[in-house]
Amino acid sequence: AKTIAGEKGTVSERSFIMIKPDGVSRQLVGKIVSRFEERGYKLVAIKSLTPSPALAQEHYSDLSSRPFFGGLVKYITSGTPVVAMVWEGKDVIRQGRRIVGATNPLESDPGSVRGQYAVSVGRNLIHASDSFDAATKEIGLWFAETELSQYEPTTWNWVMADN
Ligand code: UDP
Ligand code: MG
Repeated sequence: AKTIAGEKGTVSERSFIMIKPDGVSRQLVGKIVSRFEERGYKLVAIKSLTPSPALAQEHYSDLSSRPFFGGLVKYITSGTPVVAMVWEGKDVIRQGRRIVGATNPLESDPGSVRGQYAVSVGRNLIHASDSFDAATKEIGLWFAETELSQYEPTTWNWVMADN
C-alpha cells in the first residue's frame, strides 16, 4: 500500500534523513547531500529548522526511557538548525542506513558519513530512518504532504532501471 513513505521495496520507497546541528555547524551539508544525489536518489523535500523540544521528543519517542534522552533532545534543539530531508528510490531506507553508518562512529565503516567525519555517539552528525514504519512516522512528523515534491530527475530511468 502506498503511504507518505511510498511503497516499501519499490523505487517509490522514501526515507527521512536529517543532518543534525553538528553537521550544519561543521558545514558538511553539501558533502552529505552529495552522497545521496550521486547514488541517484531523488530529493523529495528539504528544509532547515530548529525543531521544538516537542518535535524532537516525538521524533525520538522510542528512546524516551534511555539515560541519554535529555541530552539528545538538547543536542537536536540546540538552536543551530537541522536539515530535514526526504529521499526517494530503490532500497533507500536500508541504503540510507549504510550511507550514514553505525550509531557509534567508532564502529562505523570508514566510508560512511559517521565513519568519515565523526568520533562521538552523541555528536554523530546525521539521522536516517531505520525501517519503513519509522520512515512513515518520521516523514509525517516533519513534513506536510504538500511539501513533498513529485518530479523525475533526468537520471532516474538510468539509475533505477531493473533490466
Ligand atoms: N545516542 C546517544 N547515546 C547512545 C545512543 C544513542 O547519544 O548511547 C543518540 C545518537 O545521537 C543516536 C540517537 O541517539 O544517533 C538515536 O539513537 P539510535 O539508537 O536510534 O541510533 P541511530 O538510529 O541514530 O543510529
Ligand atoms: Mg534510530
